[in-house]
Amino acid sequence: NQPAPAYKRVMLKISGEALMGDQGFGLHPPTVERIAREVKSCHDLGVEICMVIGGGNIFRGLSGSAQGMERTTADYMGMLATVMNALAMQSALEQLGVFTRVISAIPMDQVCEPYIRRRAVRHLEKKRVCIFAAGTGNPYFTTDTAATLRASEMACEAIFKGTKVDGIYDKDPVTNEDAVRFSKISFDDVLQKHLKVMDASAIALARDNHMPIIVFSLDEPGGFRGILAGEGTYTIVH
Ligand code: UDP
Repeated sequence: NQPAPAYKRVMLKISGEALMGDQGFGLHPPTVERIAREVKSCHDLGVEICMVIGGGNIFRGLSGSAQGMERTTADYMGMLATVMNALAMQSALEQLGVFTRVISAIPMDQVCEPYIRRRAVRHLEKKRVCIFAAGTGNPYFTTDTAATLRASEMACEAIFKGTKVDGIYDKDPVTNEDAVRFSKISFDDVLQKHLKVMDASAIALARDNHMPIIVFSLDEPGGFRGILAGEGTYTIVH
């Protein structure tokens, strides 16, 4: 008999780069599978799981526009990149036996479902993992904002932001040995101190909707499940 998980419904946000492993670009199937296993182990706890995956491993609107491409076109390319990542994750999860729906903010019926809020909620109630793709469907936004928006719409209890480190530090812990991890921090402090957790519009949206953000290490095996079960190290922004 294991204790009930600390959360019933959560949003997991990962960057596209989390899927590329040690490569400089694209998808690294063993890494996608490893993350899918982490998600499955949480799903096995009975937690309802939403996911948003970025697209930075394939295309970022800002880098496209820096090279002279029209910004909105470049952003649509970035949104399409997130659909590719979502399909890769769906495939990996379904190979593990976890029913998964990819739900796109930009309708592309032959590829995945369009976003219809009530339908997505129903999928979650039926314990299907919902991967929200194509960001918010609007240029000039990021997938951090999309994750916050969908988490609010789906009434998630928290956003889990998987990163390379186990929380938010006062300075970069990779280059500073004396960096100190916050166990909790307010949204306003994150904004004022310019801490790189999520972009400012996502932080402001989370603050206004009282949606806590839990920053944890995606590289720590069992880390996601541990926090859902009420343990582990992380920073909570609230
Ligand atoms: N994007 C967008 N609107 C959205 C979400 C994403 O235009 O609502 C585009 C934007 O160009 C962005 C790209 O999709 O650069 C990939 O998303 P993001 O940079 O958030 O990915 P991550 O950094 O998390 O991998």
